[in-house]
Amino acid sequence: AGPDEADEAVRGTCEDASVCKRFAVSVGYWEDPYIQCFVRQAKERKAPEINRGYYARVHGVSYLLKAFLKKTECNCQIVNLGAGMDTLFWRLKDENLLPRKYFEVDFPMIVARKIHNIKSKPPLSKPIIESHSGDSLLIDSHSLDSSRYSIVGADLRFSSDLEEKLKKHNLDVHLPTLLIAECVLVYMTPQQSANLLKWAASTFPVAMFINYEQVNMTDRFGQIMIENLQRRQCNLAGVEVCRSLEAQRERLLLNGWENAHAIDMMKVYSSLPQADVKRIEELEFLDEKELFEQLMQHYCICWASKDSSNLGLADITF
Ligand code: SAM
Repeated sequence: AGPDEADEAVRGTCEDASVCKRFAVSVGYWEDPYIQCFVRQAKERKAPEINRGYYARVHGVSYLLKAFLKKTECNCQIVNLGAGMDTLFWRLKDENLLPRKYFEVDFPMIVARKIHNIKSKPPLSKPIIESHSGDSLLIDSHSLDSSRYSIVGADLRFSSDLEEKLKKHNLDVHLPTLLIAECVLVYMTPQQSANLLKWAASTFPVAMFINYEQVNMTDRFGQIMIENLQRRQCNLAGVEVCRSLEAQRERLLLNGWENAHAIDMMKVYSSLPQADVKRIEELEFLDEKELFEQLMQHYCICWASKDSSNLGLADITF
């Protein structure tokens, strides 16, 4: 695939992620009344191990994020990198947990689609309008800026353009900032993701980075996962960093971050409260325990912080 087709395939992954999330929500894994505003219902059922995997992913990211919101008392910013059709802003608003400002970034084409949905669906637009104060809300086809929610179209591989666009929307580098990259870095070369991590570490003095993506991709199971993605023309340019938990941790440490952790999703699943496990394991019968465990060992969540204000970000863990 040429570079444009490769980017197109990467954008297609955004659709995949939200269709899977919507399906898991429809089965009852977690609540998200907003996801249906962004994607159609899946044509076919998703396998129980996929749904459980998505549950652990959404839970894992949200667990770390809530710990960050608690340490900063919501006096912070969130920057969701490669946010796709993520609904976190709306869910946080419902829980009364909005940061001072919530930013999303994705390719302009994806952002245009998201803005179109926001404009045409009151459950999405109302919370943005309600939380807005001051001058009129800025909205065009490729960006939207309100007091608490902002979305910008940018290519994450060009951090100076990214920073310029975010600053136009009043990004405040001195506020504690949480950056999230959920299944995003793997689509960039190791050099490009290193640059993005370095940019984030050098721009925000008090910050935390959460990265969710593949890991242990060098074994047989990992190779099959890669082949499946490549068959769909998806370029996993960054997959070499996904060779091990240690490589994931090292990337964070080498690019300006401190207190880096990386754990596989089986570990996250094992740390779930017993009541949650019981509830979700009753939702669907899972035949292939071993397949589930293998799948979970091939995804990880990594996080790191920088904490010159001593907010205690280094203590955040599962
Ligand atoms: N984070 C969302 C989630 O977990 O539901 C979406 C994940 S999807 C697998 C990857 C997203 O990253 C897509 O929306 C894609 O467009 C975006 N993305 C990948 N590379 C990007 C880049 N260089 N610049 C901007 N967005 C990018």
